Amino acid sequence: MIKFNKSFTQQEPIPEEGIEQAIAVMRSGRLHRYNSLAGEPTETELLEQEFAEYLGSRYCLACASGGYALHIAMRTVGVQPGDKVLCNAFTLAPVPGAINNAGAVPVLVETTDDFTIDLADLELKAAADDVHYLLLSHMRGHLVDMDRLMSICDQHQVIVIEDCAHTMGASWNGRKSGTFGRVACFSAQTYKHINSGEGGFLTTDDDDVMAKAIIYSGSYMLFERHLAAPPKEAFARIRFETPNYSGRMDNLRAAILRPQVKNLDEQCRRWNQLYNAAAEGLSQIKGIRLPVRPAAEYFVGSSIQFSLPDYDAATIARFIARCEEQGVPLKWFGDADPKGYTSRFDSWQYMGQMPDLPETRRVLATMCDMRLPLTFVEEDCRQITRIIAQVFEEVCGSSGNE
Ligand SMILES: *Cc1c(COP(=O)(O)O)cnc(C)c1O
Repeated sequence: MIKFNKSFTQQEPIPEEGIEQAIAVMRSGRLHRYNSLAGEPTETELLEQEFAEYLGSRYCLACASGGYALHIAMRTVGVQPGDKVLCNAFTLAPVPGAINNAGAVPVLVETTDDFTIDLADLELKAAADDVHYLLLSHMRGHLVDMDRLMSICDQHQVIVIEDCAHTMGASWNGRKSGTFGRVACFSAQTYKHINSGEGGFLTTDDDDVMAKAIIYSGSYMLFERHLAAPPKEAFARIRFETPNYSGRMDNLRAAILRPQVKNLDEQCRRWNQLYNAAAEGLSQIKGIRLPVRPAAEYFVGSSIQFSLPDYDAATIARFIARCEEQGVPLKWFGDADPKGYTSRFDSWQYMGQMPDLPETRRVLATMCDMRLPLTFVEEDCRQITRIIAQVFEEVCGSSGNE
C-alpha cells in the first residue's frame, strides 16, 4: 500500500512582505502596541483597522490569543462570576476554559450528526430563567442555521458571543461569520486561517463592549490612539471601573498578520479546493458519512470531518492506527483518552458535575477529523483518500460489524 509522506502540520511560510515588515519592527525596537513615533499609527492599530474593514464590523481589538479574546468578550457583555453560559459540547478546550476564566459555569449543548450545535437542545436550555449568554463555537468550521439560532437567542434574550476560530473568512447566506453575535472572537494561532504563532481578534459593533475590551487589554489611558474603536465618550465611565488584564497583540505579530488578512479570501478559496478533492474521494467510500452542508453555508475547508457511524470503538481504533501507519494521522474525538488537540467534554472535570450528553457522545464516538494544510495540493488529497479507502476496506470491509 502507498504511504503518504507530507506533514499535516506544515504550514506555508509567512508572506515575504510580512517578514520584511516584521524585521523593520524589530530594527525599530518599537514592539509594544503603544510604542510609536508621534502621530504614526502602530502595526497593531493598522491591523485592527484592516481586519474590521475586512469583516465589515465597526470595531476590532487585536489580542494576545483567541482564548484571551474569548475571556474578555465574556466580561464585556456582562458575564458575572457564577453566571451560566451556554456552549457547544463539541468544541475545544479554550472555549470552556474561557468561561471558567470569567468565573462562569459552562452549560453544554448537544451536537447534531452534522457536527453543529443542536438547536432543539439549545432552545430548551436557552428558555431557563437563569441563562442569558451563549458562547457559540463554529466548531471545525461548521455553521449552524444562523437565522434560526439568532431567532432562538433573541426570543429568549440570550446574548451571543461567536467563537470564529475555525470560520475566519466564512459566511452564512452571504453574511460573514462573526457579524451575527454581540461580539465575535478569532484566533491567529498557527493552525487557524492566519498565522502569527499566537494571536486573536475581538470584533463588535457595540461601543460599550469595545470600550471595555480595550481597557481590559491594557490601554494605559491611551485608548484614543485606537483606530478601530468607539469615540472617547464611550470610555468616560468604564475606564475607571474596568481592570487591566494585559493582553493586546504586539507590533511584531501584527506586522506578520497584515499581509495575511489581505490574502485571506484567496487562501480560503485554496482551502476549499483541497476540501472538495478530499470530500469527493471520501464520498465514494460506502460506510463513511460526510456531514450535510447547507447551501447557505460558505465554509472554509481548512479541515475535514467524517464519521463511521456503523462501527464500534475497537474497529475505529484499528482504522485510525492503520491510517497513521500509512502516513495519514486522523484525530478521533471518540478516543477514551483524548490526545493531540482533541478534547471531549468529559475531560473538562473542573466543571463539576458532568451533564449527560448522549447525542454528543454518540456523534463523537465515530467522528474523525483531518487537517488540510495549504502545503498540500489537490492530488495529495486524492492520494490521502485512496489510502483511507484501502484501510477502510481492510479494516471495516468483510470483517466489519456493519
Ligand atoms: C484555537 C481555538 C480557540 C482559541 O485559540 P487560541 O489558541 O487561544 O488562539 C478557540 N476556540 C476554538 C474552537 C479553537 O480551535
